[in-house]
Amino acid sequence: MIKPSIYDESMFFYLLLISTTLLFYAILLLIRYRREIERKSNELAIANEQMQLEISERIRAEERYALAARGANDGLWDWNLKTNKIYFSSRWKSMIGFRDDELGDSINEWFNRVYPDDIQKFKKDITDHLNGRIPHFENEHRLLNKYGDYLWVLSRGLAVKNDEGIYARMAGSLTDITGHKQAEEKLIQNAFYDTLTGLPNRALFIDRLQMSFAHRKRHKDYLFAVLFLDLDRFKNINDSFGHIIGDELLILVGERLKSLVRPDDTIARFGGDEFVMLIEDIKEVGDATQIAERINRELVEPFHLKHHKLYINVTIGITVSNPEYQQPEEILRDADTAMYNAKLRGKACYLIFDKNMHINAMELLELEIDLRHALERKEFLVYYQPIISLESRDIIGFEALVRWNHPKRGILLPMEFIPLAEETGLIVSLSLWIISEACQQILIWQEQFPSDSPLIMSVNVSAKHLAHKDFISQIKNILKETGVDPNHLAFEITENNILENSEYIVSLMSQLRALNIKINIDDFGTGYSSLSYLSQLPIHTLKIDKSFIDRISRNGNDAEIVQSIINMAHNMKINVVAEGVEKAEQMRKLEGLQCQYAQGFFFSYPVNSNEAEKLLANKNIHDNKLITKR
Ligand code: C2E
Ligand code: CA
Ligand code: CA
Repeated sequence: MIKPSIYDESMFFYLLLISTTLLFYAILLLIRYRREIERKSNELAIANEQMQLEISERIRAEERYALAARGANDGLWDWNLKTNKIYFSSRWKSMIGFRDDELGDSINEWFNRVYPDDIQKFKKDITDHLNGRIPHFENEHRLLNKYGDYLWVLSRGLAVKNDEGIYARMAGSLTDITGHKQAEEKLIQNAFYDTLTGLPNRALFIDRLQMSFAHRKRHKDYLFAVLFLDLDRFKNINDSFGHIIGDELLILVGERLKSLVRPDDTIARFGGDEFVMLIEDIKEVGDATQIAERINRELVEPFHLKHHKLYINVTIGITVSNPEYQQPEEILRDADTAMYNAKLRGKACYLIFDKNMHINAMELLELEIDLRHALERKEFLVYYQPIISLESRDIIGFEALVRWNHPKRGILLPMEFIPLAEETGLIVSLSLWIISEACQQILIWQEQFPSDSPLIMSVNVSAKHLAHKDFISQIKNILKETGVDPNHLAFEITENNILENSEYIVSLMSQLRALNIKINIDDFGTGYSSLSYLSQLPIHTLKIDKSFIDRISRNGNDAEIVQSIINMAHNMKINVVAEGVEKAEQMRKLEGLQCQYAQGFFFSYPVNSNEAEKLLANKNIHDNKLITKR
């Protein structure tokens, strides 16, 4: 038998050791490997879970978004940038009136419906987003619907890159913003346009004027003009016909004015009866005056309202651009001043601004401030001019004529402050003071110089005062307070005032007659009233305007007119006073024409109460003799 050698034995142990070690390592590796697998699977499971979570989260987000979009009534779109096919949600399609199956999936279905003016910007916004210039795509445009109308939409979107880093998709929403746009437009309309006439308002006018100023800075010889228009007697129309008719007329005036200028010119309404025109690119001042003449000419044509035919005039102030003007407000102010001066000249005309007007405007402003205090400072005086009977040469009464003893400027005549008082409304309190003063004075004189035919006091009453709603009750108060006999009181109303406000004034006249106050028609002959018209009015006296008396000695024709006025008045049992008699010759002519009464510098200037008292003490006024000094 072979005995195992020591070598064999040790070899065996060695191998055993190695294999055990190997086995051990193998087991160790296996254990480690298994752990690794477990860890990996765990990780995978977590990742998977995470992914599931994310997916459902995303699905939920998308659902939420779709829901939100539906709630907001938004349409959705998803555009494949490679194929140019686009998915439109049903809402997208229905927004422009289509059913789901009615619209294709080409991007042109969208592009071709964009309003031509909006397409360029729409495409640019898309490109800018795809080029990374803007992080979010957003664009407002008009989109044609199935019925041929455009609606305003807002589109928002985002482009997404594919694995290669190239933009492959772009998706987003579409919102109908038509209502919002309309509201916005309305806001702009209200902010810049006059709601009644639809013409630009002051704000827009100033804006346009600013552009003309800017243009002038670049082109030194560029000329433009501003015309400031104010309708004459518009307030009377409003007062007698009501605001609805007034508004209707304003709309028609706006339309007619618009037809008289070029489309480039701006015509705005500044409110009330004020219209302003910006006439661009004129060659010379004459171009602006020509337009003013055209306006004056065209506006006198009647306006045919629904139920009325109305006439209106307009007074215009003109300014032409020059280097001294820096601000739109300056040129506007001067056009307004020119208009105001034109009004003082007698309305229905135009005037070009000159610098003296500005000085006048400043003076006028000062005068207005002074006027406000004049009554309480007792600066007004009433002067009296006698009215003479041509037959007996007796003073039969007086006309009260107001004066303002201005602290700095001395005695001012009514023409210098009555228009201002009328404009500021101060006329009412001034007029009440004059009437009351004249009533008290006539009572004093009647007592001092009693007579079988008591003196009559005539007072001028402004149309502005007549139009005051409390006029009649104010007059009743004065009658009560002074105790004057209304039979000895006459109110003078100018013929033009009657013609301008006929309906209203005629009703007032009847009320005055009911109070027994006499009515004189002042400045008669200047307004061309018809005889038949006058015969309907409760008139006591006609005062023939000075302009006719001026001419009776020179021109046979005027003598005839005066003759016919006198004859007519006699037939109607109305008294006649000739106004403004300055010469003995005129007086004699009037006597020959059987004129009963006269008034004028020939007999006496208007004088203060003391001087008038002296005249009364002299009893009568003698021929060929100026009895008072001015
Ligand atoms: P009127 O009512 O026509 O008054 C007559 C005007 O003619 C007065 O001017 C008078 O001084 C002037 N006059 C009288 N005789 C002659 C004459 O022979 N020759 C000339 N050249 N003028 C003569 P006055 O006082 O300056 O008044 C002007 C106008 O102012 C008045 O015209 C009247 O419309 C208005 N007015 C005067 N006083 C008042 C008043 O108290 N209230 C109102 N509302 N208006 C008044
Ligand atoms: Ca008068
Ligand atoms: Ca007169």
